[in-house]
Amino acid sequence: MKLQLSEADLAFRDEVRAFLREHLSEAVRRRSRIGMHPPHDGDRMAWNRVLAARGWAAPLWPREYGGTGWTHLQHHIFEMECRLAHAPELRWQGIKLIGPVIYTFGTPQQKARWLPPTLTGEYTWAQGFSEPGAGSDLASLKTTAVLEGDQWVVSGQKLWTTEGQFSNMGFFLVRTAQTERPHRGLSMLVLDMASPGVTVRTIPMINGDHSTCEVFLDRVRVPQDQLIGEPGTGWDQARFLLSNERTSSADLYKAFADLERIRDIASREQRRGRPLIADPSFARQLAALEAEVRALEWSVLRVMAQAPSDHPIGAAASVLKVRGSELQQRLTELAGDALGPRALREYTREQAFADGGGDALWHDAVAGVSADQMYLRAVTIFGGAKEVQKNIISKLAFGL
Ligand SMILES: Cc1cc2nc3c(=O)[nH]c(=O)nc-3n(C[C@H](O)[C@H](O)[C@H](O)COP(=O)(O)OP(=O)(O)OC[C@H]3O[C@@H](n4cnc5c(N)ncnc54)[C@H](O)[C@@H]3O)c2cc1C
Repeated sequence: MKLQLSEADLAFRDEVRAFLREHLSEAVRRRSRIGMHPPHDGDRMAWNRVLAARGWAAPLWPREYGGTGWTHLQHHIFEMECRLAHAPELRWQGIKLIGPVIYTFGTPQQKARWLPPTLTGEYTWAQGFSEPGAGSDLASLKTTAVLEGDQWVVSGQKLWTTEGQFSNMGFFLVRTAQTERPHRGLSMLVLDMASPGVTVRTIPMINGDHSTCEVFLDRVRVPQDQLIGEPGTGWDQARFLLSNERTSSADLYKAFADLERIRDIASREQRRGRPLIADPSFARQLAALEAEVRALEWSVLRVMAQAPSDHPIGAAASVLKVRGSELQQRLTELAGDALGPRALREYTREQAFADGGGDALWHDAVAGVSADQMYLRAVTIFGGAKEVQKNIISKLAFGL
């Protein structure tokens, strides 16, 4: 089943395609397709500026803060075209996570100060929620912020802070009061990552990357007016933010790009004297996965159409997160299966990049297949572990 686009939507798609043709060089597309990140992080920043100049950096934000006013279907078309054209993916922490929190809960001063540099990518944001001993049970977090004069003094430790080493701003969930119900003592604080007392240490990941960090906060002084909303309302903002994060983590557009990658690999791999893609058993597996990705696409569209504003809430966000993250894992597993025993040898992104296109066996689509398979063990954990999402679904959708 495919989407039937109206004339207007087709014209919009053509406009997006023309924009991508004009502004996205082959070199950037190739680096982005291989996943050369973060050595070529400059691509992402440059692309952010191009989109911001066109007014397309944060399509779902309200128009008054720099959004586009597009329909959800137009937004869907835009995201899909960008991903299939291998445009660099913008940092989601600013555009998709804290941006909506700021324009929904922030003061006029906070909006004026933080939203414009978030749109242009000048502010690169880190999400400081999880701590050692506080992940699924976020409300038990121990990092404190104590008001001294007109400054919050923050002490504690955060863990798994994605891209903390590349961030100049952070939004941190901290404890501003000891309350009977622990979540009612939490607040959302914005801090400059260059503040004295902030130490960021990278964590080596199983795939060889250093995409997450530990962040140590030693009496970090933060101006009082950098707390969003009233003290003690951080839990409401965190729940709002997490429903957006869970929908992003479903990463539908990556799933479509992964299908293309598998097709590319399977068209070149030979089994019993013919391309793997012509093997009925493999073709059946690929078709079954594609059907599931398309079903996810319909679900995302349905949820977005029904959402009261730009954020799906409750059980729907958790359903998309569980389904999308499981699919991502199965897609990388099929890419590995397509390579057969050759998947045991990791063809790194750096090797692929240096090879300049490679050969029939080792080429861009193969780059990082094994590394991705290992890293994506994490996709059913970050943004809220799968088991916890299932608990949320059983409670909110079925009242159990
Ligand atoms: C790659 C990666 C990037 C991340 N990026 C960030 C980031 O940028 N910012 C940030 O703040 N955090 C980040 N996280 C942290 C992430 O949100 C947590 O890892 C996640 O919420 C799980 O928490 P935990 O690691 O403490 O595991 P735990 O909460 O200890 O869970 C361990 C296991 O127990 C299960 N479990 C826990 N509670 C229950 C329950 N009630 N019922 C059933 N099962 C349960 C879980 O499902 C899991 O399988 C990242 C994590 C990873 C792996």
